[in-house]
Amino acid sequence: MRAIVIGAGIGGIAAAIRTARLGYDVTVFESAPGPGGKLSSFEQDGFRFDRGPSLFTMPQYVDELFELCGENPRDYFHYRREEVVCRYFWDDMDRLIAYADPDLFSQEAANVFNVDAHLVRKALDASETKYTYSGKIFLEKPLHKLSTWLSKDVLTAIPRLAQMDLDDTMHAVNQRQLKHPKLVQLFDRFATYNGSNPYRAPGILTVIPTFEHLIGTFLPKGGMFDITSSLVALAKRQGVKFHFESKVQNVLHTGTRVTGIELNSGETHKADLIVNNADVHFFYQNLIKDVKLPKRTLTQERSTSAIIFYWGIRGDFKELGLHNIFFSNDYKAEFEALQSGTIANDFTVYVNATSKYVQGEAPEGTENWFVMVNAPYDRGQDWQKEISRIREHTITKLSKIMSKDLRSAIQTERTWTPPEIQVDTGSYLGALYGTSSNSKFAAFFRHRNESKQFENLFFVGGSVHPGGGVPLALLSAKIAADLMPRST
Ligand SMILES: Cc1cc2nc3c(=O)[nH]c(=O)nc-3n(C[C@H](O)[C@H](O)[C@H](O)COP(=O)(O)OP(=O)(O)OC[C@H]3O[C@@H](n4cnc5c(N)ncnc54)[C@H](O)[C@@H]3O)c2cc1C
Repeated sequence: MRAIVIGAGIGGIAAAIRTARLGYDVTVFESAPGPGGKLSSFEQDGFRFDRGPSLFTMPQYVDELFELCGENPRDYFHYRREEVVCRYFWDDMDRLIAYADPDLFSQEAANVFNVDAHLVRKALDASETKYTYSGKIFLEKPLHKLSTWLSKDVLTAIPRLAQMDLDDTMHAVNQRQLKHPKLVQLFDRFATYNGSNPYRAPGILTVIPTFEHLIGTFLPKGGMFDITSSLVALAKRQGVKFHFESKVQNVLHTGTRVTGIELNSGETHKADLIVNNADVHFFYQNLIKDVKLPKRTLTQERSTSAIIFYWGIRGDFKELGLHNIFFSNDYKAEFEALQSGTIANDFTVYVNATSKYVQGEAPEGTENWFVMVNAPYDRGQDWQKEISRIREHTITKLSKIMSKDLRSAIQTERTWTPPEIQVDTGSYLGALYGTSSNSKFAAFFRHRNESKQFENLFFVGGSVHPGGGVPLALLSAKIAADLMPRST
């Protein structure tokens, strides 16, 4: 039987592998010239840059795809665990090295901020408890199935409901647990993992520090794009065929079944099963006609987007590690601005430089910086004007904190704005993570992984359950495949 996957984002590639394992003859149609969507890569003036994701968590979800195919992941895909997950900088020259090891991290925070190390350790333990009792339910299972709610995982979680902090915001939980304003800011920043606002997102999202400090962060040997390229190679070994520059413009259907696709060239392809990896909003808006729209899903608030500067930098920045965060002075004002569609005068800057650890990413004596600032999703703002303001402030802020002239160190540059993210990856309004998680019901309003109307149509990727980010997009493919029939 034939299966078609629309989109070669990381969720689409994982779905192609899993669908092939169910016995289907799988073809992926991707509108871009290459695979990966947000997790793609480009080169400029001798520098290699990962386009989007820079933080790699939960590598086991990549490994298990190799294992599913009877291969040893270590024969094809290599990564190392990072000892330092992030270096944090503040304008007043406070600095903190966030060690992956929870005790080392707690002690470092205690030393820098003159607080009790147990306070930090206890916050991490509370985070881990949330993960232990809610992770499987919300990340690995379909939420619309009764079997999920009757499972042993739910029964063991029920007595822990009070510890899930569902009725407080993330910020309120962090404030209660950590008290020191800079530590609260540091733990609030985990809301940006899925493009949410810590002052509105539910307290259960304080589960996120577990990923960094208890499970760990990782770096693929060849940078983030290794995830995409090694999974595409695995898919090809499973017989999956990829067609690039092949934009799907119509999904054909009769009765309760989808029957195939039409490309923008006019070419049609029949299918017994279709997996959609394109943003679910665009799927209903552009790719399928004469169907009932899932209105509640489509009206959910979008996650934040970003402005990214890819800078080839001359010099040696020893104070920086792989991941670095330069905090704003007023985090609340920063999120209020994002909520209202702007970027505050002072804002947090993320700097990642894989060339510090990956050979051949940048010419001798230089580094490849991925510099990201959270931005609202696109509402028609004047992004070119924003770019020059954000660039100026970023250079001034970082130069001052590092006591270095960053302006003259920039050797090559490229930018990515919310409307360009939409054009390049088909992400509605340029949102990085689909819908936001700013409500405790957000998980329930995300689109499910199987269609309600068509028995052979499935959905994967960051815009559907369980949500945005590389690990969750990989999990969406696992949940979808568990719902698919085997090929006969
Ligand atoms: C700047 C940035 C930073 C990020 N940082 C992180 C991070 O540090 N860690 C992390 O885990 N996540 C991060 N993310 C989020 C993560 O990249 C995404 O959640 C994940 O990659 C989404 O995967 P996906 O499967 O939804 O596919 P996408 O990457 O959204 O790709 C969808 C694909 O479908 C294709 N497509 C769309 N419409 C059609 C059509 N009609 N026909 C054919 N093809 C079509 C698109 O061209 C695209 O290739 C970041 C994202 C960005 C942009």
